[in-house]
Amino acid sequence: MNTYPSTGNRLRRSGSRLLLAVVGIVWMSGCGLFGGSGNAGDPVPGASKAEPEIVRYTGEKSKVIPYVYTAKRELSLTFNGMGDDKTMKRLLDELDRYGIKATFFLPGMRVAEEPDVAKEIVARGHEIENNTLNRLDLTKLGYEKIYKEIQLSNEIIRRETGMTPQYVRTRSGDYNDDVRLAAAHNGLKGVVGYSLFLHNWQSESEQEKYLYVRKHITRGGIINIDTEEDKALLEAVPMLARAAEDVGYSFIPVSKLIAHGGIRKPLEEIKGYDAIKLNPNYGNAKYNLISSNRATRNKEVALTFDDWGTDYTVTKILDILEKYDVKATFFLRANGVEANPNLARAILEAGHDVANHSYSHPVVTTLTPEQLQNDILKAHQVITEAIQQQPTMLFRPPTGEIDDKTAKIISAIGFPNIALYDVTTFDWDDHNSAKDIENNVINQTQNGSVILLHMLDDIHTIEALPIVIERLKKKGYALVKMADLIGLNQ
Ligand SMILES: [Zn+2]
Repeated sequence: MNTYPSTGNRLRRSGSRLLLAVVGIVWMSGCGLFGGSGNAGDPVPGASKAEPEIVRYTGEKSKVIPYVYTAKRELSLTFNGMGDDKTMKRLLDELDRYGIKATFFLPGMRVAEEPDVAKEIVARGHEIENNTLNRLDLTKLGYEKIYKEIQLSNEIIRRETGMTPQYVRTRSGDYNDDVRLAAAHNGLKGVVGYSLFLHNWQSESEQEKYLYVRKHITRGGIINIDTEEDKALLEAVPMLARAAEDVGYSFIPVSKLIAHGGIRKPLEEIKGYDAIKLNPNYGNAKYNLISSNRATRNKEVALTFDDWGTDYTVTKILDILEKYDVKATFFLRANGVEANPNLARAILEAGHDVANHSYSHPVVTTLTPEQLQNDILKAHQVITEAIQQQPTMLFRPPTGEIDDKTAKIISAIGFPNIALYDVTTFDWDDHNSAKDIENNVINQTQNGSVILLHMLDDIHTIEALPIVIERLKKKGYALVKMADLIGLNQ
């Protein structure tokens, strides 16, 4: 990601005189400066000389929202700041062109300067939230000042647009406990962050820019662009619109995204979170290395997908499986899940099994017993929290490399069933075409086979998958989850 630009902005230069004017206007308009849900004491109506002291809020801190917990195919496009009048009008035209309803975090000072721009944003159907009054670094200010930076901005936005902000975000997205307290003190529902802050590009090609943006089209994601600082602001909208369309997701305002989202249970409240326990006494552990079920009387095989990918790739796989009414097993690399838990949850909600493929994808035979157990335990916890239930209790060793000692180490912590495969496609190598993948599957698959595929980006698996499924079905195979194929659930 590019570095945050450090150029000053004209607001700071014009700041203090205007602030006085703004405070004056707010004061005279009769709005209670220190009213709202605050507990700082009600101002006496009309008595505006003595400012009551702002005391640090003693209630609960407001939520921090860097992204929203949801497996729905939606995310938010948000903007910080308020660029000049011309830029903002062109931005609104671009958003209209692509049918995107966005959320604008506006600084109160800019709204006071150019209320018509703010009104136009509302008129075009977008949402306005609070970007603080002057976009100062709130983490460096005292509580009273933080409170006022949020409070005055709220007042101005409400007065000029009729919209009442429900969320606040600072210029950089940084916050501390006082910011969270002051937000709650002002009656706001949360401090919004971002899953991607799209900064100025450096020397990326158009294709690199597009792929970078597409990688960040995630379920529940919050994309942020600064309208005062981003030099490619107007080009960003078509690029984001195209990326979202290619992934199959839509942009909705942030308050809707939050309303559609859920609250996740903490790990310790999820049944089975402790099914994996460190166990140094592995010497006598029994294990099963399972690469197929040749004994099955049914003509059935299992499709399995390893590792991790972007929403673009994984959602395509889910759509293909859905189209052919196939349930599969996904062995997830948990450091990927940790960064994008919503996608793991989406796999589960689509009816597939989710299982453990380690946290950091090590070759298990190269680790000490302690390192290995810690890696797998961490993966179990991350995946459990992401999908909000106990995963399917299968572990697949990265690269398939395993020996007697490591199998015992893995079994001893709670994975006696180690999931291997008998059909390899080398689909992880992008030199292998869709046709190569297809041929590898069809030539090797027998009754009870476990087929290894990958959900990595930029390989040919999603291209091969529909044909692979069609050909297997034509041969009479039913495609089942691996746990069902090997009788793990009986
Ligand atoms: Zn792997």
